[in-house]
Amino acid sequence: MLKCSACGSTRVTVLINGKPYCKYCGTKILRTHLVRTLLNMKREGLITSIINIENYEDS
Ligand SMILES: [Zn+2]
Repeated sequence: MLKCSACGSTRVTVLINGKPYCKYCGTKILRTHLVRTLLNMKREGLITSIINIENYEDS
């Protein structure tokens, strides 16, 4: 039986990079990955500074 790679829950709903995660951990991990990917893209100049990731509230 599959178990969540983060918390050990057996209620696995998603696979991320081949690892099983429950809904809660999967959502958390995806959000972290997305923010990190966007920050890397911004650092490499792939997206403009118009998109303010670090300080989303500050417009
Ligand atoms: Zn979990």
